[in-house]
Amino acid sequence: GAYLDHNATTPPDPAVREVVADGLAAGWGNPSSVHAWGRRARSRLEEARERVAALAGCAPREVTFTGGATEANNAVLKGFAARDRGARTLLVGATEHPSVLETARYLREQGQPVAEVPADGDGRITPEALRDSLEANQPVGLVSVMWANNETGTLQPIPELAAACAEHGVPLHTDAVQAAGKAPLDFAGSGAAAMSLSAHKIGGPPGVGALVRDARRLPLDPLLHGGGHERERRAGTENLAGIAGFGKAAELARERLAGFPEHARGLRDRLEAGLRESGVAVEVVSEAAERLPNTSCLLLPGVEAETLLMNMDLAGFAVSSGSACASGSLKPSPVLLAMGIPPERARSSLRVSCGWTTSQAELEEFLEVLVPLVRRLQERTTHPA
Ligand code: PMP
Repeated sequence: GAYLDHNATTPPDPAVREVVADGLAAGWGNPSSVHAWGRRARSRLEEARERVAALAGCAPREVTFTGGATEANNAVLKGFAARDRGARTLLVGATEHPSVLETARYLREQGQPVAEVPADGDGRITPEALRDSLEANQPVGLVSVMWANNETGTLQPIPELAAACAEHGVPLHTDAVQAAGKAPLDFAGSGAAAMSLSAHKIGGPPGVGALVRDARRLPLDPLLHGGGHERERRAGTENLAGIAGFGKAAELARERLAGFPEHARGLRDRLEAGLRESGVAVEVVSEAAERLPNTSCLLLPGVEAETLLMNMDLAGFAVSSGSACASGSLKPSPVLLAMGIPPERARSSLRVSCGWTTSQAELEEFLEVLVPLVRRLQERTTHPA
């Protein structure tokens, strides 16, 4: 078997496990304390901040640690709405993660004007589509478009989208959770005003993330009120062990950017070529778009994704039907529906996402199990017994 679901979560790197364990052993302390224990904790906290900033391409003071990317996404959208009070439109991409889409839906119920920027058939949010949405929904107060999609891997042209926003003086927030460690990130050069990150997608622990933000371009009230932690941006004694683990993971992810894209692309291309050569019916979603190198979203006509997942699980393989959050329900993926893929085809989607630890041998073994299974399931639908 093999774990091929790295977009859902990644195995904690051994070096990260060591740093987290040490954070709960010798490294404990309250970073706000003035004594030696506190000073040690503070210096670990700031070291982690520097490592995350280096991966994100931002200044360390722009990093606020959060309890994951869901919190960072909620904080940006709700923080914007709390100050805007329904005056201007919140624009979100049509294929965003539920932590953006559901937050936007909630804010709309609360009276904030909200609109979606449509995606094309390959999941792209084009600068033209964004410009049209900016024109049609004036005045716009905030735009949120993800850097890379978790289900399809589609990369959005963030610098171009930020430029379109700048024409209207509107800040852009980008959920860069899936891009981190898989594609170069450059917050400063991207033109974005805010960016969300998550530790557990890059070999770090779950429940830790960051909101990167240029406070001048996107002013927000504190995420949590209380003590003055995180430069008065998010109160609460810091999750130092988790944050230190995030820092280590960010450092490793940055180092591995030299080799990871090529490694992952080799595996992905082999998977897609292997399926095509096998003769089963298969379509690669977002193939015409720029994609993350590690992500393959496949449509296997005639196959019920849930059946396939259960069979692959029995054989020891972890894959997903598009979104970990949506698995367990038979609803087709809203991301694929937003791209104009009909529900029937969307129900046949399989997401394979490789990681740093995935080997060529694992991928070959995966193909050996997958191909006959898909063939059998497709024969059953074309020639029902
Ligand atoms: N955004 C994207 C694109 C994601 O893939 C995820 C994780 N599924 C999140 C946000 C949420 O991150 P977290 O699990 O840290 O809350």
